[in-house]
Amino acid sequence: MSTSTNKRLAIVCFIDALGWEVLRGRRFLEERLPHRRRLRSTFGFSSACVPSILSGLTPREHGHWSFFYYDPQHSPFKPLKPLGLLPRSIVDRGRVRNQISKLVKRAYGFTGYFQLYSLPFSQIGLFDYCEKKDLFKPGGLNRGENIFDLLERERVPYHVSNWREPEDANLAAVKADIAQGEIRFAFLYMAAMDALLHQVGKESPEVDKKMAWYERELTALLEVAERHYDEVRLFVCSDHGMATVHTHIDLMARIEALGLAFDTDYVATYDSTMGRFWFKHPQARERIIAALEQEPNGRILSEAELRALGCDFDGHQYGELNFLTNPGVIIVPCHMGLKPITGMHGYHPDDPDSDACLLSNVPPPGDPQAITDVFHVMQAEAGLRG
Ligand SMILES: [Zn+2]
Repeated sequence: MSTSTNKRLAIVCFIDALGWEVLRGRRFLEERLPHRRRLRSTFGFSSACVPSILSGLTPREHGHWSFFYYDPQHSPFKPLKPLGLLPRSIVDRGRVRNQISKLVKRAYGFTGYFQLYSLPFSQIGLFDYCEKKDLFKPGGLNRGENIFDLLERERVPYHVSNWREPEDANLAAVKADIAQGEIRFAFLYMAAMDALLHQVGKESPEVDKKMAWYERELTALLEVAERHYDEVRLFVCSDHGMATVHTHIDLMARIEALGLAFDTDYVATYDSTMGRFWFKHPQARERIIAALEQEPNGRILSEAELRALGCDFDGHQYGELNFLTNPGVIIVPCHMGLKPITGMHGYHPDDPDSDACLLSNVPPPGDPQAITDVFHVMQAEAGLRG
């Protein structure tokens, strides 16, 4: 009997926000995936973490971090400024903002995830946006290469989910490709867990229900794959976890109470866990620092700390000063403008709720410690040279 070469498939299933602490006390796929690791996250939101997973690079290296950054010269959003004259009660309705986001995305030919969130139209012409391209395509990163650049160059037959599609469609698509038996590597993208965890928090029974669903679906996926391949190596990974929100702070009011003029004295944008500032003169800087130091629920990150986190950007692209809230504290109102929420991420990677996970049915190659190492796992699993 002639033995053909071992037909092997590696599947990497990314589940957004499936943190190490979300898994705690839950027996999620323990038998199928006995190799379980805690991974240190990358500082930032998914807009920073996902590029790091796909490339092994830090935010300073790939250039992706929070979506909006101050760049009045290159801002493509100046034509939206007149919308700032309309009553906020109209233009700030979620549905209206979503429609405008879609129009902008189409008009500018953005292929990445694009959402205006609740950045005021009166200010939007001062900002540019970091994810204009589809991260899950070759050439998707602002700088450096992602796993898809490598897969295409080495002509490895692979599958990647369309991140715009819902989870059940992504499962059906990967199963269809697996049944063809030609791919050697699959990247399955699952994003619904993040939205659920924001909404209900990690302790909710809704999360148990959702995890039971993932467990059933991934077990079924493995069964399909095992029918078509001799060896199936399954990795489940995430980008960060989810902290439970306990405190709201009005950082915007604290800064606005200083009476400084926006754009003349300073520019700021407020993400859920971060205030990011740019200064027009040293006095504005001093006064804003003094005001931030009065806020007990967070702190200014030093340059040295940002460097250690790989978030020291050329020309302070994402802020000349960064204020980060403590775990469980969110800035309300903020420019990410989500509805009232129970869970949040985007805290310091030292916080246990920031930790991500890597679960697998085989020992992972290398010694992955951080989400950037998922890239090296994928590289090895796809048979690519490092
Ligand atoms: Zn999220």
